[in-house]
Amino acid sequence: MIVMKFGGTSVGDAARVHQVATIIETQPNPRAAVVSAASGVTNMLLDAARAAAVDGAELVAKLVAGIRARHHDIAAAIGDDQERAAAVAALDQLHAALVDALSDVDCAGELSPRNADRIVATGEKAMSILLAAILRSRGVPAVHVWADRVIATDNRYGNARPDRALTRELAAQEVRPHLNAGQTVVFTGFIGRAPDGSTTTLGRGGSDYSATLLGAALDADEVQIWTDVPGVLSADPRQVPDVRVVSGISYDEAQELAHFGAKVLHPRTIRPAVSLGIPVRILSTFLPDEPGTLVTRDAPEESVKAVTALNNLLLLTIDVPELEDLAAASAAVFGALHGDRIEVVAASQASSRRRMTYVVDATGHGGCARVKQRMAAALEAADVDAEVGCEEDVALVAAVGAGVAAAPQTLSQFLSVLGRAGVPVLSTNQQHSNVALTVAVLGRDATRAVLALHDAFIRPQPASSRSRRPRRSDMLAESLRVG
Ligand code: ADP
Ligand code: ASP
Ligand code: MG
Repeated sequence: MIVMKFGGTSVGDAARVHQVATIIETQPNPRAAVVSAASGVTNMLLDAARAAAVDGAELVAKLVAGIRARHHDIAAAIGDDQERAAAVAALDQLHAALVDALSDVDCAGELSPRNADRIVATGEKAMSILLAAILRSRGVPAVHVWADRVIATDNRYGNARPDRALTRELAAQEVRPHLNAGQTVVFTGFIGRAPDGSTTTLGRGGSDYSATLLGAALDADEVQIWTDVPGVLSADPRQVPDVRVVSGISYDEAQELAHFGAKVLHPRTIRPAVSLGIPVRILSTFLPDEPGTLVTRDAPEESVKAVTALNNLLLLTIDVPELEDLAAASAAVFGALHGDRIEVVAASQASSRRRMTYVVDATGHGGCARVKQRMAAALEAADVDAEVGCEEDVALVAAVGAGVAAAPQTLSQFLSVLGRAGVPVLSTNQQHSNVALTVAVLGRDATRAVLALHDAFIRPQPASSRSRRPRRSDMLAESLRVG
């Protein structure tokens, strides 16, 4: 069985949704298609929800009208009259429920995370209705299934954690029978079900994760992430002009890349695939015949396969004068970060200066002033004398590839490339068991660092690979232009 996932750009308008239907038709049964909301719709829904909380009735009405129009434009391209009428009726119901949810927010005068998830789920739900109807109108038996009946999660609205065992049971009840009946299941990405049955979401960009969660629950043979680029690229194409497609990458490498900011995969996507060894392929809906990137347990080793940057981080430093206080300070800091649900992206300790360094993602936690205050209070409560420092607008730049940790010279090359590019390094982190070299730099230096590292480690292609694949860069340029 195959699980395919189609992202927002891939279902952005009627023509794109038909293209997705064509791709689905080429895959063998049994098959499921996980869909995101049409590009931009999730942001519109969130804007409407926020506006409703502050009495922005006019803006809410404008956004709801815009969302409705996007969905109805796609519905107009459903070939079969009956299917089109049924889809329009289902969309009307969905939009009416959206208006109800927004007026609940208006009455409450605030947007709870629970209501935000209920509202934002509208985009994926609408797309599942639309794609299933388009498939049926093309003669393909299809049914839509909403993941708030299937992907069991906790109740951390906005960033819910899945319960894989329960999801497996629910998928056996709610999805398997349709597959057995020969139907293509069109499944909502991004959303899940809290223990009380309410709708949760898996975090922005979470539809990739939905695909591997569904794949693992159904013991899929392969999960395909169909997107707007022809695979995992050697860097973010919006930052680096001459990127390459990475043809093979290991689960570890893909996880590091996603963790350190490569938007092509949601950071939690790979984990469900790892436990069952399910191959994950990244493919382009714009260039469906390209081989894309295959993610498996073992992949060809190269020193550096990709360079990436994760922005908007804080660099937290804790200086502990007394050596014997180090462990207590570390426990207090990690405890406070965990308690506040602040994600630690990288941590290191330079024992000579008794300095501990944490690069954290504190989005929504009030920046350095707030985080410093929290850490100082936690250290005081633990009776530890320490000085807390914090730097805002920091980026982590990573070079990813299984070879980086194995080759000792890579770190010195990495640092000298940054030195030549005039990029000051705030901290370094080389984990020997790992597949990435990372450094923290100022946010304003991140793009320059990525460009310099890409130039040094990736751009020089051996002549043999250039002659084997003469059209690769043309194809890529074309896809990026289209995307
Ligand atoms: P989708 O809507 O299909 O989920 P996303 O926009 O979430 O697509 O992710 C695809 C985008 O990720 C690409 O268009 C590209 O701009 C960006 N991206 C960033 N880093 C990389 C990378 N290393 N490889 C491929 N794409 C990347
Ligand atoms: N539609 C959701 C988002 O925009 C989920 C996704 O695209 O994966 O974040
Ligand atoms: Mg995405």
